[in-house]
Amino acid sequence: MDGSGLPEIRSTCPYCGVGCGVLLRPDGEGGIAVRGDPEHPANHGRLCSKGSALGETVGLDHRFLSPVVDGEQSSWDDALQLVADRFSDTIARHGPDSVAFYVSGQLLTEDYYIANKLMKGFIGSANIDTNSRLCMASSVAGHKRAFGTDTVPGTYEDLDEADLVVLVGSNLAWCHPVLYQRVLAARKSRGTKIVVIDPRRTASCNDADLHLALQPGSDVALFNRLLSEIYESGAVDPGFVAHTNGFDSALDAARNEQASVTGLNDRQISEFCRLWIATEKVVTIYSQGVNQSSSGSDKVNAILNCHLATGRIGTPGCGPLSVTGQPNAMGGREVGGLANMLACHLDLENSDHRAAVRQFWDAPAIPEAPGLKAVDMFQAVGDGRIKALWIIHTNPAVSMPDADAVRDAIAACPFTVVSDITGATDTARLADVLLPATAWAEKDGTVTNSDRTISRQRKVIDAPGQARPDWDILAEVARRMGFTSAFDYASPAEIFREYAALSKVAAQLGRDFDVSGLSNISDTHYDDMEPRRWPVTSTREGGRFFGDGAFFHPDGKARFIPVRFKPPAARTEPRFPFRLNTGRLRDQWHTMTRTSLSPRLSAHLSEPFLDIHPADATALGLSAADLVRVTSPIGSSILRARITDSVQQGNVFAPIHWTGETAPSARIDALVAPVTDPVSGQPESKAGVVSVTRF
Ligand code: SF4
Repeated sequence: MDGSGLPEIRSTCPYCGVGCGVLLRPDGEGGIAVRGDPEHPANHGRLCSKGSALGETVGLDHRFLSPVVDGEQSSWDDALQLVADRFSDTIARHGPDSVAFYVSGQLLTEDYYIANKLMKGFIGSANIDTNSRLCMASSVAGHKRAFGTDTVPGTYEDLDEADLVVLVGSNLAWCHPVLYQRVLAARKSRGTKIVVIDPRRTASCNDADLHLALQPGSDVALFNRLLSEIYESGAVDPGFVAHTNGFDSALDAARNEQASVTGLNDRQISEFCRLWIATEKVVTIYSQGVNQSSSGSDKVNAILNCHLATGRIGTPGCGPLSVTGQPNAMGGREVGGLANMLACHLDLENSDHRAAVRQFWDAPAIPEAPGLKAVDMFQAVGDGRIKALWIIHTNPAVSMPDADAVRDAIAACPFTVVSDITGATDTARLADVLLPATAWAEKDGTVTNSDRTISRQRKVIDAPGQARPDWDILAEVARRMGFTSAFDYASPAEIFREYAALSKVAAQLGRDFDVSGLSNISDTHYDDMEPRRWPVTSTREGGRFFGDGAFFHPDGKARFIPVRFKPPAARTEPRFPFRLNTGRLRDQWHTMTRTSLSPRLSAHLSEPFLDIHPADATALGLSAADLVRVTSPIGSSILRARITDSVQQGNVFAPIHWTGETAPSARIDALVAPVTDPVSGQPESKAGVVSVTRF
């Protein structure tokens, strides 16, 4: 307690997948003070600039406070009945696959669970996908191919114990700053070495022992070379490889690879391989630079192959670690928020899994085929196959590839519902029905971070106006569609118990995700729940996976996946001579709906820009701060040129955050072609092609 008379409440930061614990003290007037939670295992009290500024983002200026139908204020009763009637009518006329939900890693696990249950169990379509598809779908696919399940093997404690941390396609210093601080602490205490593999020289290179500025998209070739060197140097662990299949095929593919496509010289590659092989405790962290690629799944498996070959997985200080962009991307994966998954890591394509979920939910039908993944979903909206669409806490009119086409598709959709906290987004302005949802500090539920730790997000301040929790909105629409008893929930705790009970069914079917130890959790214990790393069962809690060589494929073995380098789908050519890399800034978040409310965050880098190499700038006659028109085969933007050798000659970089609201001419995803990885469906957001001209 302090002078305000109100106690601090433990909750979780709503930004990145690090999942830092925060202590929130409401001031009694709608504001909150924020500090890091010293007892949270993800951050031990640390916060980054975004987390520290959370208190500046809870004002009401940007909120809409009551439902809106066709631009007019409405009652909840009328708005929800309209949503239920239009979805029911569309399904009756055109079938269940004529409707879709596009949701978000901003949803809490309980919200996500209800959305997934409604679409897959009761509407009878798998057309629910999430903006996490843009972030980490390739990691999911890579994990499932190698391990049999989407399992993160290690924990954040591995960063404290590693002697080498390799960052692949990850600007950890800006995008997961608290994890980066943890790596730096290990560097100070035990001399941990840091290697950065990234075409750009980012802030994460400042402390690196080695920066490999490889050609965009060539990661597979580099890790194939590493696998070959592991074999040649006798570093393969035959005891561990006995728990796997496919090593010889993967090695054959690796040995036939030409590492020269990386653009790195032999000395650089040899130095990396020597360091990796000679260091027993290696953690390889990877993020969007790996995932957002037309060969993202192959890149993930190229990394996993090296850890499997050496047995450097699931033991202290060892393993691959996929870090997610959003606060609850992992929770979304766990509840089956992707169009090709069922809840609790059960598989939609597996008839036993479908039958088990159908029985558990007492559902009329579970679809047999995967639904439309994000890019395909909006193409189906555009060509009229999807006739009713519900978008929840995300802004696809800005953030999807080919964003102009997505914006036009949503505008032309016969019926679009948007649930969000603000009506001032490019997407919300296109909605037929706007539903005011509760925001971060008003919500109650759970999230899972990148190392499987489930944390409580707690309500700290009252919801303004008529805003309601997402699970409540979704369940009410479900009941009005006639699914009464299956959606009769009174609280997020009740939903969590059901979900935990379903995980016991999943575990009996050989799945990894098991939180059955929480299936009888009382409301009080749910309210008080400490961070818990899954699995949570009657006999086990937390820990690492796979150190014992037990995997989740039917034969209990892991799989090596033979992979070969594939260049990015779009080729540079005289009309589009530059390779466009897109990414995030330190102090902004997604499309800035929250972070732009903080003056100090907006002060970091305050306008959209394009980084271009000095030689390219000279060739184009550009001076620093010139405006440039950036044109791709599908769109055009106007940006401020920053001349810097942090990008390679022939490459340019632009941040993703600005929108039609904040900078109408700088919508970067309007430049990104809707090309996807054929395995994961993740768009190739980091390797487009563009021309640059002075504006
Ligand atoms: Fe929030 Fe991520 Fe920063 Fe932690 S590192 S405070 S979770 S944005």
